[in-house]
Amino acid sequence: MSRREGGDEKAIRLVPLGGLGEFGLNALVLEWEDHLLLLDAGMLFPSAEMPGVDSIVPDFEYLAARAERVRGILLTHGHEDHIGALSHALHAAPVPVYGSRLTLGFARKRLQERGVRADLRTLSPGEVAEIGPFRVHPIRVAHSVLDSLALAIETPAGVVLASGDFKIDAQAPPEERTDIDALSEWGDRGVLALLSDSTNVERPGLTGSEDDVVPAFEEVFARTRGRVLVSCFATSIPRMQRVADLAVRARRPVAFLGRRMVDNAEVALDLGLLRLAESQRIAPSSLSGGPGGGAVVFVSGSQGEPLSALSLISVGGHRDLAAGPGDTVVLSARAIPGNERTVSRLISNLFRLGCDVVHPGTAKVHVSGHGSQGDLVELLRRVRPRYLVPVHGEYRMLAQHARLAAAAGLPADRVLVLEDGDVLRLSAHEARREARVAAGRVLLDRGGASEVEELVVRDRRHLSSEGIVVPILVVDRQTGHLEGSPEIVTRGIVDADEAASLAEEASRLLAGAMDGRPAEERLDANLTRERVRDELRRFYRRRTQRRPMVIPVVMEV
Ligand SMILES: [Zn+2]
Ligand SMILES: [Zn+2]
Repeated sequence: MSRREGGDEKAIRLVPLGGLGEFGLNALVLEWEDHLLLLDAGMLFPSAEMPGVDSIVPDFEYLAARAERVRGILLTHGHEDHIGALSHALHAAPVPVYGSRLTLGFARKRLQERGVRADLRTLSPGEVAEIGPFRVHPIRVAHSVLDSLALAIETPAGVVLASGDFKIDAQAPPEERTDIDALSEWGDRGVLALLSDSTNVERPGLTGSEDDVVPAFEEVFARTRGRVLVSCFATSIPRMQRVADLAVRARRPVAFLGRRMVDNAEVALDLGLLRLAESQRIAPSSLSGGPGGGAVVFVSGSQGEPLSALSLISVGGHRDLAAGPGDTVVLSARAIPGNERTVSRLISNLFRLGCDVVHPGTAKVHVSGHGSQGDLVELLRRVRPRYLVPVHGEYRMLAQHARLAAAAGLPADRVLVLEDGDVLRLSAHEARREARVAAGRVLLDRGGASEVEELVVRDRRHLSSEGIVVPILVVDRQTGHLEGSPEIVTRGIVDADEAASLAEEASRLLAGAMDGRPAEERLDANLTRERVRDELRRFYRRRTQRRPMVIPVVMEV
């Protein structure tokens, strides 16, 4: 390896902005000298601990500060945790976006919704894309969404191979299968760094094939008299294809319900990536009667998202579809960590309607799209990289991926576990960590337009767990004395009866405490509020073991 002048050899820098050390919002910057590429721009759906937050995106400040040096954004596939923050990334750096046909199809819809224009350029396996000093070679990989890519990126300092989300799935049809020969060829040519998916690193063996779900669906179709509602991720086109094929064979018409499901099906049908004749499809409006009797309906909302089609159906509130006895609902997706309770409640509600519910806990109606240990080791053996950087996952997954690689024979000092904001400098001779950069997350309100401060979310969480007390005091402007007894409104602390008697007691306590104060304190509204807050906090903590939020209202008359 030749050394450049000044003794500094050729090196790349990897700067993860999201997705390393946490689940979702994948975004990683690859740099060579003054040229930057962003790999993926994903978002994260928040868990129940973030009330009122609808989506979370990486903080792209690092990118914005270097916008004129960013050469492009590369998308590995069309899942939200890889494309959901694209409009935000483009806001930071308006550069061309590269991805497969389906990925760009999904991305285009998203961007249109937000009124964001972008230069979208298609990547196809076997075709090289020249982007600044980088040469990008797309490689087909099997995943739960079609048209997923691994990317071999030639840089002047060596090849970086990003696996994207993948599994090996050797049984998949050719158009869905991971191109392991191409991966081996890159191994022969030499790969400086492999960035590999860590999502399923805790699972032994191989992940298995998408076809593995077929028997369970056949069984459901055979015993269901009414409609079969199938809820999977709206991007799971290979799953939808298999189920749609079974529906056609069983002479059941097919419908799509829920905005995301309808949008994505349309994109995939247009591109010919989902094959289902027009005559086999029916409109959602005909589901309540007529030909919709034995229909197969793809419904969005497998994670129990509050306003999704499936959630509405589960409480009998959907305009087009009232599910009940005779119908079967198949939850063909696992609950994303953090959503388990919501999904469990959804299942109970569906049973309450009289439906039968089949889910991954009771039948093989879901296969993961992420490689297990066997898949990960296979990739490592094919690519034989100089360095491995585990990506996509919580810290525990990254750490276990590192161990797995060490057990598979990669020297431990060549496996580099990074977290968001870490900076890694890699050359053929060494791996070096550099000073960390700022990497955070931005919480977004409904519609994704406005930012929510962390503080606001903390307040909401506090309100939801501890309740609220609003004391209303009327005081005489001249004397500072109370006019009548304080009124105290509480919510979410104790049950209604007890709340009323506690409020009376608190009111008496407050009346005594307020009037006994010296005049200068009585006449200062801020001091009055402060005192009210102190008294009531102490009172409610003592009597209920809670720390409610106290918001005094002092009216002067
Ligand atoms: Zn992912
Ligand atoms: Zn994915």
